[in-house]
Amino acid sequence: MANIGYLQVVRHCNHYCGFCSNPSTPFEHTLESMRLLVDDLCARGYFGVVLTGGEPSLHPELPAITRYAKGRGLHVRMITNGHRMAQPEFAQAVADAGLDLVHVSIYSVRPEVERRLRGAEGTLGLALAAVENAHRAGVEVNVNCVINRHNADHLDENVEYLIEHHPYVRHYVWNNLDPSMGRAEVNQAEFVPTLRSFEASLHRALGLLYRSGRTFRVERVPLCYMTDFAWASTETRKIVKAEERVVHFLDEKQTIRQTDWEHQYAEVCSVCSLRPICGGLFDRGAAYDPAELAPVFASPDPIVRAILGDADDRPTAAAVSAPAVGLVTADSLRRHARRREVETRRAATLGLEPERSSRGPGADPEGIE
Ligand code: SF4
Repeated sequence: MANIGYLQVVRHCNHYCGFCSNPSTPFEHTLESMRLLVDDLCARGYFGVVLTGGEPSLHPELPAITRYAKGRGLHVRMITNGHRMAQPEFAQAVADAGLDLVHVSIYSVRPEVERRLRGAEGTLGLALAAVENAHRAGVEVNVNCVINRHNADHLDENVEYLIEHHPYVRHYVWNNLDPSMGRAEVNQAEFVPTLRSFEASLHRALGLLYRSGRTFRVERVPLCYMTDFAWASTETRKIVKAEERVVHFLDEKQTIRQTDWEHQYAEVCSVCSLRPICGGLFDRGAAYDPAELAPVFASPDPIVRAILGDADDRPTAAAVSAPAVGLVTADSLRRHARRREVETRRAATLGLEPERSSRGPGADPEGIE
């Protein structure tokens, strides 16, 4: 089984997304503390590691930890906003260090929407430059997108643009917004979409990708909103394949081994024939409305067969024994306090709420399957 672990390299970021579920903490990694966690994944027999954050490219030792993980035989991936990879030299440096795959996050190809979602200027151009630079440097590129209220109606527009201008991107990942943690929890009114608001555009986007021979995964979307593409549900794939995921959270949560992929269910789910293979729906904070769910009365067997017949065997929560995930020192606390001051001013400028606690438990990382 090809399990993949997540290593949060840093938790700070040069963007200020109003729905970030993993905002800054005082924990910091050294190269040595990250090496121990790479060793931990190797000892578990994992296939690969995803370097994530915060914005992982902000860690000065990113090329070094990439090289180390590659040298240990792992398939090395990174999730990035693309800000630093927009520099060709940086893209080449991480490629030379052995980065196999980069997931560049692009929320909307409408610049004004992307700007609002990122809380920063010029981000779309930088992300697109990162896609191009990574490809030129020989790194496989995937595009990740968090579904939210601002982009819900034009997910297919993103795909059309990327297929035309970046045809070499062959795999796409959608993560429906997790409203339970970090900044997303306190800015739900602005960012959490209704399921109906993105149903049509997601279906059009997946259809475009499917017909063009590309692959995709969709996380945190209940199966009653996945129609023909239920086999692409990340949770369903993990339930069917009994997979696990280890996440080294750079916060108090530390290392979590996720094996339970079930979220919250509504009363109607009890009569739904897809219930055994469906991840359900987040409903924390009443962010999503259970009244939007509609039971399905069709056999789950074709979905299970489609997943098990898929050659793609990419990589389900319990605390586990593992090396310490990062350190909190007097210096890291000072750096964190300074960042919090800057972020609080930035939030006020953007009309957003800063997350409630900088030391709260971490959320699910943005999934990549
Ligand atoms: S009704 Fe419930 S169990 Fe059925 S597909 Fe929708 S969320 Fe899943």
